[in-house]
Amino acid sequence: QAKAGGGNNFQIYTPGMYSNSYKKLFMENALRTSIENNELILEYQPQVDAKTRKIVGVEALIRWNHPQLGLVSPAEFIPLSEETGFIVPLGEWVLREACKQNKRWQDAGYPPINISVNLSSKQFSQENLAADVSKILEETGLAPEFLDLEITESMMMDVNHSIHVLKELHALGIQISIDDFGTGYSSLNYLKRFSIHRLKIDRTFVQDITNSSSDASIVETIITMAHNLGLGVIAEGVESEEQLKYLINKNCDEFQGYLFSKPLSAERLEQQFLK
Ligand code: C2E
Ligand code: MG
Ligand code: MG
Ligand code: MG
Repeated sequence: QAKAGGGNNFQIYTPGMYSNSYKKLFMENALRTSIENNELILEYQPQVDAKTRKIVGVEALIRWNHPQLGLVSPAEFIPLSEETGFIVPLGEWVLREACKQNKRWQDAGYPPINISVNLSSKQFSQENLAADVSKILEETGLAPEFLDLEITESMMMDVNHSIHVLKELHALGIQISIDDFGTGYSSLNYLKRFSIHRLKIDRTFVQDITNSSSDASIVETIITMAHNLGLGVIAEGVESEEQLKYLINKNCDEFQGYLFSKPLSAERLEQQFLK
């Protein structure tokens, strides 16, 4: 317990900590009304095919624009939403919005692309995940093959539960990618039992392929392994021509990163990539 003005007693609560927890509390509350106040937006980052160099998909990435806080990074409010449970309605909003947008693009006559949506661990452990996804697909009219869900290795620690959920999702006809691959625990033995379609090589490995021989060989190994398991592989965080050259040379299937584009609003994506 902190003792205010307590002579030589050390204080546990510093002013900085006080304002941090105040900010956290403020954010928690503000988040609860973010959906109804239309403060959430999705941006879309292109995923490009190695052979055709054409856009084959986009990853939906959430942004929170709050009148007082300004633009808050998902790295900040996603973990907070996980803590408070707000991630469940938030995740459902993202999924619906992303499916709606992809259907809108198809209805507008653009060549069909996939949309990747990030799942949180709480969503992944929800009993009714597959039912929710199925409901949203039906509601929005998006064909399941154009939806890709991104999950991380750390969500799959409960192997039996994961196998079960992934089978259910697979049965819907959607695709599954493992995000940030290589940063978490993954048993190769389980990997082949999971109904998944694609590995996304984590940005941290891609970053150093041109100057770290160990990262380069990790990337090469992931690509070879993915292909041997019949999975596709996409590299995230591709920023330079050198990285791209290396990845093409190692037969990586798809790329995502600033070299091609930052995440864009739906309108800018249309103008720059779909026309
Ligand atoms: P992620 O799923 O691994 O998404 C990739 C992140 O890398 C994005 O950051 C993206 O803007 C960034 N990025 C893409 N290309 C490059 C590049 O070439 N260089 C660099 N330095 N960065 C690049 P963002 O949008 O800030 O998202 C951060 C994380 O927040 C995401 O990582 C994801 O874990 C989470 N997130 C974002 N949107 C959602 C969402 O709708 N639901 C959930 N559950 N999580 C989300
Ligand atoms: Mg992702
Ligand atoms: Mg990622
Ligand atoms: Mg990442």
